[in-house]
Amino acid sequence: MNTQELRALSEEHSAHNYHPLPIVIAEAEGAWVTDVEGKRYLDMLSAYSAVNFGHRHPRLVEAVRRQLDRVTLVSRAFDHDQFGPFVAELAELAGKDMVLPMNSGAEAVETALKTARKWGYEIKGVPADQANIVTFEGNFHGRTTTIVSFSTDPDARNSYGPFTPGFRTVPYGDAEALRAAVDENTVGVLIEPIQGEAGVNVPPSGFLTAVREICTARGSLMIADEIQSGLGRTGTTFAVEHENVVPDVYILGKALGGGILPVSAVVADRDVLGVFKPGQHGSTFGGNPLACAVAREVIAMLRTGEFQERSRTLGAHLHARLGKLPSDHVREVRGRGLWAGVELNGKARPVSEKLMERGVLAKETHETTLRLAPPLVVSQEDLDWALDQLEAVLTEV
Ligand SMILES: *Cc1c(COP(=O)(O)O)cnc(C)c1O
Repeated sequence: MNTQELRALSEEHSAHNYHPLPIVIAEAEGAWVTDVEGKRYLDMLSAYSAVNFGHRHPRLVEAVRRQLDRVTLVSRAFDHDQFGPFVAELAELAGKDMVLPMNSGAEAVETALKTARKWGYEIKGVPADQANIVTFEGNFHGRTTTIVSFSTDPDARNSYGPFTPGFRTVPYGDAEALRAAVDENTVGVLIEPIQGEAGVNVPPSGFLTAVREICTARGSLMIADEIQSGLGRTGTTFAVEHENVVPDVYILGKALGGGILPVSAVVADRDVLGVFKPGQHGSTFGGNPLACAVAREVIAMLRTGEFQERSRTLGAHLHARLGKLPSDHVREVRGRGLWAGVELNGKARPVSEKLMERGVLAKETHETTLRLAPPLVVSQEDLDWALDQLEAVLTEV
């Protein structure tokens, strides 16, 4: 089937909860994808950081192949030989004691929220059902009913009520507003160290440090959602490292599955994750052998520092070039490492469509932001070529 026929099938039979670019991908390798017509495109989105290591990285494919020939699923009713090493290695990467594995990012966020509440009632001593969790305007933490309860994006929220109570929202980057919102019943502050979906919003310098201080002072858990910002994307393993901040809880997902499987996890110390007893939380697929095998390889790749280094050096180059884009088209460029939100003066959708015609896949977020997040394996040559295309498109529109 050709592009048109395949697109027609999707249009007709899939719910229209996405507005994809009119391309149908058939194959991919490294930073490049090929559509059903055989045309190649440079992937400048990386599935929102899920493909940080590029498509089908040989080490990751090999890890999955090996595991496919051994055992793929046992459920948590039984232990398997990938599980112990996976949780030990991930805990070590994050400098924490314990891991609670899940599958999607939203599930891991839900798990972190349940962790904070349970910790709040059982350890902090918050009266029953009085716990609150503080979140930030513009947040994106997933799509479950509870998570959209504290979204400030009308598209994400409208028509999904009634919502889960117990959340407060303050402006992102406003430490004083956070200080005022946190009280004795605040069990957690849930924060993206850089807001991805909102358009790669980097908080003002010192903000993460302030969040840490406020959480420590009030005895609340600082919960860093590093699902999109973590695992090398910003030039460090975790984006909180840019301010040398250590949160109480990390939420990981996306790249943890190596672009092959959904793998997510909550990582924290024993005094926090130790609140769970058998039967109190779980997931059939969470921590399955295949997921553990691929995530272990991801962790091993991150340990070398090679990908973080690529993100730092190529990211500096990316931002230097983006900074020179004509100011009549570009209002602002935000981001860190190989991650950028390009704030345009006009609509971003026509720009991503024109980029696609030129063989560059990027996607708008909201109306006017173009998000760039190439795989960390992208070559400087390919990156420069993509930026040449962006320059050309901006002069066209
Ligand atoms: C993508 C994302 C999620 C949700 O992950 P899913 O796997 O889509 O459920 C949560 N938080 C952040 C910061 C994300 O970028």
